Amino acid sequence: MTAPTVRDRRVLITGGAGFVGRHLADALRVDNDVRVLDDGSAGDPDALPDDVSYVPGDVRDEATVADATEDVDLVFHEAAVVSVARSVDAPGESHAVNLTGTVNVLEAARRRDARVVFASSAAVYGQPARVPIAEDDPTGPLSPYGLQKLSADRYVRLYADLYGLETVALRYFNIYGPGQTGGDYAGVITVFLDNVRAGEPLVVHGDGTQTRDFVHVSDVVQANLRAATTDAVGEAYNVGTGRSVSIRELAETVRDAAETDVPIEHGPAREGDVPASRADISKARERLGYEPRVDLADGLAGLLA
Ligand code: NAD
Repeated sequence: MTAPTVRDRRVLITGGAGFVGRHLADALRVDNDVRVLDDGSAGDPDALPDDVSYVPGDVRDEATVADATEDVDLVFHEAAVVSVARSVDAPGESHAVNLTGTVNVLEAARRRDARVVFASSAAVYGQPARVPIAEDDPTGPLSPYGLQKLSADRYVRLYADLYGLETVALRYFNIYGPGQTGGDYAGVITVFLDNVRAGEPLVVHGDGTQTRDFVHVSDVVQANLRAATTDAVGEAYNVGTGRSVSIRELAETVRDAAETDVPIEHGPAREGDVPASRADISKARERLGYEPRVDLADGLAGLLA
């Protein structure tokens, strides 16, 4: 089933200069009026296409968010401090962006009666009780980032229940794809690709048996487009592939795809790394019609081409 067309909407993408936001802007800009609100702290506003209007600003500022939401009927809220490590170092800063910023977006949307599609995270689950992880499984964030995403995810739901606002939370698993920059969050694919290009060893943290569900950014865009048009609002949905690979296997796949023989080395395990993560995507499949299309090997080959 092809993703629904979103057209003739006035769209705001917060964090639209970042990795996911830019892909979303690209998918929407031809048929819609697209505005990006971004403070440029991580993304690259200069790389935005000319037909996307850019509002420099901070989601922590209520008036800025309200102004940017003027005349908008659909909001994709991607802006966040996405680094788990940074949230551990400075919980107050990430709280202000990730939680207060989300409440600012919800309030502005409530005044406009605009639909909000929120970038939640698999980090809400923390150490999963079982895999695959379903949306109503226990949550237990292990970092300020995860807790902020969980609280924001609940606010998003509450705004639907309390005010009848059309909201959807998409709990992204580990996203990868073109334009992703390095960093310590979901960056393992970027790091491995940089390493094989430089002919350097791939360093796996711990024994490499930890598993992750890597989802291509084009499938994340697909989920957002479906969330923008669905009747099944007021819900949270997992956005992954339903498949997982171990980090050791990932390193081998990247090395094979790159046709190099760089060594794979093992470094110390990272504290707080969950041993297994995989999305149960049946809810998104059934209610949104979401179907991931890019298989990991193809996605990696595309990045190496
Ligand atoms: P990103 O860092 O590339 O993009 C985030 C954007 O938000 C950046 O352009 C940054 O400049 C902007 N931003 C940060 N603070 C801001 C502020 N105070 N005001 C305005 N703009 C601000 O990250 P991404 O990978 O594109 O992630 C998008 C969203 O998806 C985030 O909410 C993130 O938490 C969530 N998420 C991402 C992943 C992943 O694997 N990439 C997984 C789960 C959830």
